[in-house]
Amino acid sequence: MRRKLALVGIGKIALDQHIPALETSPHFELVACASRNAKVAGMANFPDLETLLARVPDVECVSICTPPQAHFDAARAALRAGKHVMLEKPPAASTRQIALLADEADRRGVTLFQTWHSRFAAAVDPAREWLRERALAGGRITWKEDVHHWHPGQQWIWEPGGFGVFDPGINALSLLTEVLADEVFVESAVLEFPENQQAPIAASVRLRTEGGVLVEAEFDFRQTGPQSWDIELQAAEGRLKLSQGGGGLELDGRVVAADPGLAGEYPRLYARFASLCAEGASEVDWRPLQLVADAFLIGRRRIVAPHHV
Ligand code: NAP
Repeated sequence: MRRKLALVGIGKIALDQHIPALETSPHFELVACASRNAKVAGMANFPDLETLLARVPDVECVSICTPPQAHFDAARAALRAGKHVMLEKPPAASTRQIALLADEADRRGVTLFQTWHSRFAAAVDPAREWLRERALAGGRITWKEDVHHWHPGQQWIWEPGGFGVFDPGINALSLLTEVLADEVFVESAVLEFPENQQAPIAASVRLRTEGGVLVEAEFDFRQTGPQSWDIELQAAEGRLKLSQGGGGLELDGRVVAADPGLAGEYPRLYARFASLCAEGASEVDWRPLQLVADAFLIGRRRIVAPHHV
């Protein structure tokens, strides 16, 4: 039987990916939505999660698609009501919040699936396998996109806790931490803040593996023309390029996978959520969030031209 699921925060990602994935899910039945303004046709709609939980008590699972600033309150309310929770990335607006949510899920004996959708892209498993047998010598992340195209009108991204360019950039860090055998930490960073905004529009981050290998990352929201979501890794015995946010893979210049970004990721995420619920297990990995938080902590700040949403 399909588990009854409620969706919270009906915006771009809910409409583009979650609802289509749920429409064909063998595991979940979307029965209700909570969003302050938006409504989904043919669905029981509520302005907030508390009302939804009171009015539709047989909901078993809650999937949260709001911006990160709203994750903690919604996820905590759902966990405290004994629901299994799936959380969009970035997991929360601060590192302590996600730690508290993990504790709450543990205490309640319910599932917290803190997702990194990019890790479910088609080329991630073969990339991890390729790296497992090789010694990393260096790496470069190039994550450059046009914020006007991909985040139209999204003011929350520029507010405190909105992550700025790290909203997409954290996807690269979720991939890096997934495919590397070694752990990485932030050695230094430069963050560029528009003079009228509270979050960075660009960032250069130097990451170092515990083994001493440098991975340089460039994140930029001002990219016009070709967009880049690439991770290039160099080993003594060859080179790997993960492109399209994890959908594409080149090994020594030979294309071995070429999925467009996001293809298939959300059906795979919901399948994983179903397995976790069945096992009574949680999946939480906040290393990418720690890397972003550390870039904010030790990064140098530059003020740049204003950005208008
Ligand atoms: P969005 O289009 O702005 O939608 C989010 C919705 O959440 C809003 O429409 C709003 O609907 C609701 N909301 C609740 N609390 C809010 C608050 N404090 N501020 C603003 N909106 C609030 O954003 P999105 O692109 O769907 O992104 C949401 C999350 O999904 C982000 O964490 C993002 O990183 C992640 N994500 C996005 C994409 C993408 O391609 N856009 C891809 C993967 C993951 P109401 O006004 O009706 O409450």
